[in-house]
Formats: sequence, structure tokens, C-alpha cells
Amino acid sequence: MYFLTDEERKQLLKNYLPRSRQSEIADELRGWNWNQPPLEPVYDLKLALYEIANAYCPTNRDLFLRRVDGIKSQSNAAMLRGKILHQALVDILVKAKKLIYMHGVTNYQKVLQELSRPTKINLVQYRGQLAEEDLANLVGEAEMLTSFEASRIISRIQEILIKQPYIAEDSLAALVIPIVVEQKLDGSFLGLSQNLSADAFTFSEPMIIDLKFGEPQKFHRLTTTGYALVMEAIYEFPVNLGCLVYASIKNGRLSVKKDIHIIDDELRQWFIEERDEKMRMIYEEIDPGIANNCYGTCPNYHSCHG
Ligand code: SF4
Repeated sequence: MYFLTDEERKQLLKNYLPRSRQSEIADELRGWNWNQPPLEPVYDLKLALYEIANAYCPTNRDLFLRRVDGIKSQSNAAMLRGKILHQALVDILVKAKKLIYMHGVTNYQKVLQELSRPTKINLVQYRGQLAEEDLANLVGEAEMLTSFEASRIISRIQEILIKQPYIAEDSLAALVIPIVVEQKLDGSFLGLSQNLSADAFTFSEPMIIDLKFGEPQKFHRLTTTGYALVMEAIYEFPVNLGCLVYASIKNGRLSVKKDIHIIDDELRQWFIEERDEKMRMIYEEIDPGIANNCYGTCPNYHSCHG
């Protein structure tokens, strides 16, 4: 899912990378300048990154209800689905890394055998939160996702072993899965939570990857932008690229589309404006009002509409 196809890799190497290296990002918009305007947070608040980046509620009243009125809403079915499928992907990637370290290069056949075995997904802890039929469907989707990713990993292992006859397990693990999943980050320099978690980060060329299971939205790029700013604030190296991975499953078939993008001045500015505007709403307790075009599955629907 996170691995690029040959075409995407070509696009990355011949298009996005050269363009991102040439693009002049204003220094004041680099995360390492978190201690001066415009990046320096104006309000003494800490927000989760999704609270800044998400715009599913047209007026941001979901944030007002949570932060000012202290109303905790239950996740809707789409949110739970995203969480479960994300976890399935993390589990198979971590499992593959563990298997490589456990069996080493000499016993790589065992790694392949264990990855080839179908994974049984158990979602019993979600009983009561989702209808039984939805749960059964989700088990099928999570297993399909896991087996798809496992087969990609298997072919990557084989490909690398053919090219690198003297490779050891640490290098093999890094080349087969060149990403850190659920990268934990402290965003407090920028007025964000201390416990942020980026879906994935690739070190070969610093790129933030975020996986989505819903319809593409323009504001999704704010998530990659926010994590890029935080990485720059912590590690003081430029992070110029983001990649949104859109996965969908229809009629038993998985489809994956990627939106690779340069984290340019415009996106950085947009992220900072969203942060400042949302912080002001919370700090000054300004109720933004109920939207005219609420979506039916909004978890706060009853709080707003009674
Ligand atoms: S019901 Fe409407 S206004 Fe209220 S949080 Fe949901 S989308 Fe926003």
C-alpha cells in the first residue's frame, strides 16, 4: 500500500524530487523556525493534528463541541473502518520486519512461508459498535488488505535477495520496508499535541505518507503538511514531499491511488492559518454555529440538531 509502483517511482525520481529540490520554500515557513512568526503559536493550546487538518464539518463546530463544551462523540462507522484497516496494515508491516529479524537472511524461506499464510483477523472487540454484517465485511476487507500487502512484501524480499547476495537482516528489513509506521512525534513546538502519530515516514527521501480509506478531499494535504512541519521542527531537515494513499475496496477488489505532492508555501500557509483560526475559536469560545450542509453520518449530529 505504501510501496510505490514502478511508474510512481519514476514520477517521484524524475518529476517530484527535482521539482521539490528546486522549489524555494520561504525559510519562515520551515518547521525549524517554530519560535518566530508565523509559525510560533499565538495561543497556549495544544491541538491534535487531525483537529487542525480535518474539515469534514463545514463550520468546525465538531471541534468547538469537543474542546469548549467537552462533548465526546462516538466514532461513526467510516471512522471505525479506517481505524481497523489502518491497524491491519501496520500489523502486517511490523510482522514482516519481525520475521526478517527473527529468521535472518539464511532462513529467509521461513519468512516467505509465514508471510504466505493467510492472516485471521479478529474484530470481536468492535462488537456492539458496528452491525454484525458490517463487522463480517470488515474482517474480509482487512484480510484482503493484509494478504495484498504480504504478497508485495514477499516479492520485494525476493527481488532484493537476488540483487544483494551478501545482505544481512538489518539491511534487508530496511530495504524491503523502507518506512517507519506510526512514527511518534512531539508537535508541541507548533502548538500541537506531544503524542502525534504519522501513518508512515520514508527516509530514503523524507516523505510523509498518510493513508485514507474515504473519498479524496482537498484538505487531506493539510495532514501531510502538518507532519512535515513537525518533522522539520524536531529534526531540522527539510521535508518537501507528502503522499496521500487512497485505498478503496469495491466488489471484492482493492484499488490504490496515490497523490504525491510538494509541501509548498501555499500548503504551509494554509496549515498555519487553520491552526490559528481554530485555536482562536477555542480560546475565545466562539461558537461557529451549525452548518447548512451537515453530512448525515456526522458523529455530532444529535448534539447539533437534537
Ligand atoms: S452536525 Fe453539522 S455543524 Fe454539527 S458538527 Fe456535524 S457537520 Fe458540524
